[in-house]
Amino acid sequence: LIVNIGLDGDILAGAALVRGLRACQRDDLPVIFVASDGRFEARLQAVRAGGDAYLLKPLDVTNLVDSLDRLTLGGTQAPYRVLVVEDDPSLAERYALVLEQAGMEASCLSQPQEIVSTLTEQRPELILMDLYLPGCTGLELARLIRQQPAWLSTPIVYLSSETDVEKQLDALQMGDDFLTKPIDDAHLVAAVGVRAERARTLNSLMLLDSLTGLLKHTVIKEKLASEVARAQRSGLPLSFAMLDIDHFKQVNDRYGHLSGDRVIKALARLLQQRFRQSDPVGRYGGEEFAVVLPGCTPQDARQALEQIRQAFAALRFRHGETTFSVTLSAGIAGDAGYADGEAVNAAADKALYAAKAGGRNQVVIAD
Ligand code: GH3
Ligand code: MG
Ligand code: MG
Ligand code: MG
Repeated sequence: LIVNIGLDGDILAGAALVRGLRACQRDDLPVIFVASDGRFEARLQAVRAGGDAYLLKPLDVTNLVDSLDRLTLGGTQAPYRVLVVEDDPSLAERYALVLEQAGMEASCLSQPQEIVSTLTEQRPELILMDLYLPGCTGLELARLIRQQPAWLSTPIVYLSSETDVEKQLDALQMGDDFLTKPIDDAHLVAAVGVRAERARTLNSLMLLDSLTGLLKHTVIKEKLASEVARAQRSGLPLSFAMLDIDHFKQVNDRYGHLSGDRVIKALARLLQQRFRQSDPVGRYGGEEFAVVLPGCTPQDARQALEQIRQAFAALRFRHGETTFSVTLSAGIAGDAGYADGEAVNAAADKALYAAKAGGRNQVVIAD
């Protein structure tokens, strides 16, 4: 629901309306307040009415779309992945069960020496760690984990019966929080859930491009490298596509950089909507995009990109009184005959160059 908070000239009427709706059991409905007023009192009433966002007029459509995405995609979020490191199997099982009942995905580890392979396989977003383990302490294991760059930012929460504050503080040199056993279920779920959510948000800031929400350059290149290696092991096909917006400099020059940004975001949304969750999509550079398509032959990839090319060309962008449209060019390479991700990338780049040279607004497969 998008509500003008200042309905009928009364700056709080919109908030009252929403409070009324909430009272008749629509408390799950996301609400965005739109206001001409940034005053504290209006913002406070919006929060009290359970508003999820507060946008000032004149409305920036891009912000509105971002808020809508955030509020409507949130419900389909994947469960938080939690690793329980605990040598007492019955306790480990109980914690895992409690977390799973709260909608998280929990796995258990009782043998510290298996930590590296477990982290690689389970990719936990939070580690719940016992302080006393067979063969080492939780602090030592936390240090070992933190020595690997990939796990540097994964939160570690200790869960121990240790009540000596000195010892707790000592462990916290390498951890983020200390919970004491016995712990009640609600406390465990809340402590883990809040930290996992924060960790996921920070992680997405590190890995995702802020304008488009697509993977950053280095991340999409890593995905390409690992998917090429996987395809070569499995013998399944793989394609890689590079896309570049045509004459984008002219879009900026004629309609301004904000219009240019809107075009970039529109293409990003189109790519996110058209490809499967398992097909990594990245912003390769300014107005350049890349998609890894595991299991897809270059011919299949061409079909998909041809549809995207047409859908993008059909979009109408508005600038004041005028409308304009934009096209894109794409180059595709399969993995056959190439040594690694770099080589596939170079081949797709060359095909993209050929698409540009061939008159733009077209999709070309590498020889
Ligand atoms: P071609 O068809 O050959 O690709 O021509 P082009 O004009 O698209 O290519 P060129 O590489 O000359 O220009 C790309 C332009 O993209 C230049 C740069 O200012 C613009 N650009 C890069 N990143 C952004 C961005 O984040 N926002 C906006 N608005 N413009 C950007
Ligand atoms: Mg123990
Ligand atoms: Mg370019
Ligand atoms: Mg371009």
